Amino acid sequence: MEFESILLDGVSAARPLVIAGPCSAETEEQVMTTARQLSRHGIKIFRAGIWKPRTKPGGFEGVGVSGLEWLKRVKNELGMYVSTEVATPTHVREALAADLDMLWIGARTAANPFAMQEIADALEGVDIPVLVKNPVNPDLELWIGAIERLYNAGVCRIAAIHRGFSSYEKNMYRNLPQWRIPIELRRRLPGLPIICDPSHMGGRRELIAPISQQAMDLNFDGLIVETHCNPDKAWSDAAQQVTPDVLDFILNTLVIRNVEQVTEGLEDLRRKIDELDNQLLTLLAKRMEISEEIGRYKKEKGMPILQSARYGEILNKRVYQAHAMGMSENFMKTVLEAIHEESVRHQMEIMK
Ligand code: PEP
Ligand code: MN
Repeated sequence: MEFESILLDGVSAARPLVIAGPCSAETEEQVMTTARQLSRHGIKIFRAGIWKPRTKPGGFEGVGVSGLEWLKRVKNELGMYVSTEVATPTHVREALAADLDMLWIGARTAANPFAMQEIADALEGVDIPVLVKNPVNPDLELWIGAIERLYNAGVCRIAAIHRGFSSYEKNMYRNLPQWRIPIELRRRLPGLPIICDPSHMGGRRELIAPISQQAMDLNFDGLIVETHCNPDKAWSDAAQQVTPDVLDFILNTLVIRNVEQVTEGLEDLRRKIDELDNQLLTLLAKRMEISEEIGRYKKEKGMPILQSARYGEILNKRVYQAHAMGMSENFMKTVLEAIHEESVRHQMEIMK
């Protein structure tokens, strides 16, 4: 797949691309006031949810089509680009009829291939940028599949929105970042712009700045930030919204690093990393050889492969040691589990 790098004419390609506006359009006045303040701070792309997917019935489910008229006013009076979330072919038709400039697909919709295909069919032959949020579950193939359906319908201005992933356990984040997933997305689809949504990821306004900085440090392309003229009174997602003034402050404090610049010193350090990786691989291969030898011994003596007590002893000892050496216990556990799994695989080959 090859994607257009410019989503909207006249919006600077310099990072970060910024999309801002309330979680939901609530009233004409709230929409116009928020948009006016954002526009004064130089924000060019406005977001507002018209149809809101709520987890439980009875919550505020959006103002519906009447809100499209307010977005039209933002576009005509302030010259901003306007965008909203679409979840059904009817939403798509209504948003296009209202002449919106950009659409986004929510995390619940992106997780549903039937819904994605219907939306893609409704967009066949329409030239409008579409942003695809990551599905609620951490499934990269599902995310790419959603993007592919749009691409196959002829949409070529596509970007991904990383908004984090649901988890059952309580956590400091509302949705876990799991950065390795968008990092892998970048490797798989290098030309696809990636926009971070620190609002839904953090779930709290204090987390917007640090998460945005992390996204910039990973060289992601933009930010979509929920912004409201009176955040505490918002009808949805109040805890994670900021005023346009606070957003402007956050954007001004971001450090944008220049990734193209590879200095001499960095190349030297990278060579050292390569050398260490070589050593790690050589050591791992040696360890596998010993493990195979153990496998042959176990086979001869009729012993089972899995020796839980020994495995437990290795885990405990090394996890403790890793901690003392400044590495996280979780990290060491993951590494050892992967090594152990590979050893067991080698020994099973021998037992056959
Ligand atoms: C939103 O952007 O307001 C929204 C509902 O987000 P998500 O689909 O990421 O939950
Ligand atoms: Mn929201």
